[in-house]
Amino acid sequence: IFVAAQQHAKSNPKKIAVVDSVKQQSFTFTQLLEDVAALRKGILEQLGVSDLEERRIAFLATGYDYVVTQWATWAAGGIAVPLCTSHPVAELLYVIEDSDPSLVIIHPTFEKIAPGLREGCSTDIPFMGLDPLSRNEKPSLPSFSPSFPVTRRALMIYTSGTTSRPKGCVTTHENITFQASSLVKAWKYSPSDYLIHVLPLHHIHGIVNGLVASLLSGTTVEMRPKFDPAEIWNRWQDRGSSTMFFAVPTIYSRLNDYFDSNIRGTDKEDAARAGAQALRLIVSGSAALPTPIKAKFAEISGQTLLERYGMTEIGMALSCGLEVEKRIDGSVGWPLPGVEVRLTKDGSIVDAHDEEGMIEIKGGNVFIEYWRKPEATSSEFTSDGWFKTGDVAKRDVTGAYFIQGRASVDIIKSGGYKISALEVERKMLALDTIQEVAVVGLADQEWGQRVAAVVKFRDGTTPLELSALRSELKQDMAAYKVPTVLKVVSGIERNAMGKINKKILVQKLWPEIS
Ligand code: ATP
Ligand code: MG
Repeated sequence: IFVAAQQHAKSNPKKIAVVDSVKQQSFTFTQLLEDVAALRKGILEQLGVSDLEERRIAFLATGYDYVVTQWATWAAGGIAVPLCTSHPVAELLYVIEDSDPSLVIIHPTFEKIAPGLREGCSTDIPFMGLDPLSRNEKPSLPSFSPSFPVTRRALMIYTSGTTSRPKGCVTTHENITFQASSLVKAWKYSPSDYLIHVLPLHHIHGIVNGLVASLLSGTTVEMRPKFDPAEIWNRWQDRGSSTMFFAVPTIYSRLNDYFDSNIRGTDKEDAARAGAQALRLIVSGSAALPTPIKAKFAEISGQTLLERYGMTEIGMALSCGLEVEKRIDGSVGWPLPGVEVRLTKDGSIVDAHDEEGMIEIKGGNVFIEYWRKPEATSSEFTSDGWFKTGDVAKRDVTGAYFIQGRASVDIIKSGGYKISALEVERKMLALDTIQEVAVVGLADQEWGQRVAAVVKFRDGTTPLELSALRSELKQDMAAYKVPTVLKVVSGIERNAMGKINKKILVQKLWPEIS
């Protein structure tokens, strides 16, 4: 990444790398590299070493300063551990304690929680502010090519904790560059692109797809620490000012809703539609994209969302195509360049189409270990070296993948049948009255599991009774898949990436069962 950044700086000294929406400032690749060099020096001096040698630096930062901190850690030879800016202190402490950093860096925006974090740490870890980022001193960066040790560990990202406690996934420089280059090839990022970045920065989606792939390819990144639909519609109205946008399904749902209640029918409508239409690439991922959200967004913007599949351990693995005909509803597309994907069932490879199997992955994109969890690491790999994702999928005749969900929570076993919660959710969302749904399996003596639906009905509609809901759904779904339990709620909790923790949801709603 440093070599690429140095080249971008050289070929176009005015090229903007990062636009910081809070500072309202733009930074060129040259400035970025200078600031990285300064902070690298600051970090090494603080710790009194000349190379971090894979020591961890945990940091809480946003915007441009986030990039500088992450890159300075890399340039100093350390492992960057980005912390989540919206986590409560207890969760931050879990990550800090688990990653065992030599230094914690806290951006001035988060100064208030620094004392709580410091007190909560069971060991004495030094803390550092980001103010020493003084711009009068300009040490130059060490030369990175060709001796830079790319096999070193570089990044530790914690999984979302959807299925168990978050695990630190460790990737090397090589892994990250592989992940980012594969996306750059598939989605054709270039210096003429401009990405509006609204995703969290402690997660693979925001880090690799958003930041690393962009800066590697010379794309300018406009960093917005918080997603606000009004701001995004405003930015898009400024036609041609950006070319790419990456987000999770909940963000597209909020953009659709904002358009309906604040833009549709006003004098801004035409400009908003045309502005969104002018973007080159709009991508959805991190959770299954409900078809109604995709359809509504297409109606508004003329844009067909491109869906892709990935996870913390492997970066991105599957993606629909840049060509609109290759953005099939309900599918996450085909393997990305350099990534090997296969389906297995009971240890054998599934070749037939329309048959379910567990997704397994091989390639330079795959992480090297769960931090200090050797057993967990080895149990997630097959004896021939494939990473077991825990996600179940089917393939059609063209080889396009359709995610059925996580084996542990989304594949429900009821009365001898296997049912994909994601498939049932997709069908339920096609009903106009249903705004949000989570389908879960409830332990049951007679059936093994029963299919239960947690539903938020659309405001202003009359919630359906279970029997009415069942007869509607039976028109389009085999009877054994149709939920036999219905819980009506006013909203379904999701994390920053739009994911539902189904285990916690079941514990909350059916405490007697779990
Ligand atoms: P944990 O591993 O801690 O339980 P997690 O698996 O949710 O949490 P992530 O690595 O952030 O943590 O998420 C990866 C998971 O997200 C994938 O395994 C998959 O289940 C889901 N996912 C990602 N993209 C998609 C998609 N396009 N459609 C459906 N599911 C997706
Ligand atoms: Mg996972």
